[in-house]
Amino acid sequence: SINIGNVESAKIQTEPLSAHPDAQKFQFQAEVNRLMDIIINSLYSNRDVFLRELISNASDALDKIRFLALSDSKLLGEGDAAKLEIKVRADKHAGTLEITDSGIGMTRDDLIKNLGTIAKSGTNAFLKKAAEAKDTSNLIGQFGVGFYSAYLVADHVTVTTKHNDDKQYVWESGAEQTFTIYEDKDGEPLLRGTRLTLHLKDDAQEYLDEAKLKDLIKRYSQFINFPIFFETTEV
Ligand code: ADP
Ligand code: MG
Repeated sequence: SINIGNVESAKIQTEPLSAHPDAQKFQFQAEVNRLMDIIINSLYSNRDVFLRELISNASDALDKIRFLALSDSKLLGEGDAAKLEIKVRADKHAGTLEITDSGIGMTRDDLIKNLGTIAKSGTNAFLKKAAEAKDTSNLIGQFGVGFYSAYLVADHVTVTTKHNDDKQYVWESGAEQTFTIYEDKDGEPLLRGTRLTLHLKDDAQEYLDEAKLKDLIKRYSQFINFPIFFETTEV
């Protein structure tokens, strides 16, 4: 089974997170572990940045499919699949925050490479600076830490994704050196794109608050060229 961290944070789950029977386990690259350690042990004074990072990833993914569709419009699909948008959904009952985009999505290989290793030179620069710095919280605000900033507020992240060239997959990690991937045969099908489900830490439940989220989204969405919809589910 997947260890989701301390028992206290497990209490907010509506049901235990357990490994899927088909789940395959992978080790993170050493640099990813270092980055996650920094994120998890940082002072949290810049936690808000996670939403900017994840919305900008959603926007990048939408840019990519829109660009590819310029030369092959079939890639966009029809009806709902052709809508290029971002949805943010706070589920107070489950204690989860979802960020869904109808962007390019990730193949199984993409998941392993993009969410298991660090390819960015900027992140390597961050790691170098962080090794010298006493307080890394300022650095997080300065550099951004990309996808892994989800672990500023979540102790467990589930990524469900569908790329045109592959089946739908689920990637999961509780940030303790490993992640798992399985084909998502039973989940709600995404036409195309990616859904991040953040299982929020006990001390990050404020990120389910509608006013707080709307304020953050407004602050960041002014730079985003796709519509962002907000939805909240009360207990
Ligand atoms: P960066 O965005 O600077 O490349 P990140 O850590 O934010 O670095 O993301 C790592 C990679 O994971 C991205 O480059 C992209 O390939 C992939 N990725 C992250 N989020 C998404 C998403 N919503 N849709 C598709 N791919 C994504
Ligand atoms: Mg990014």
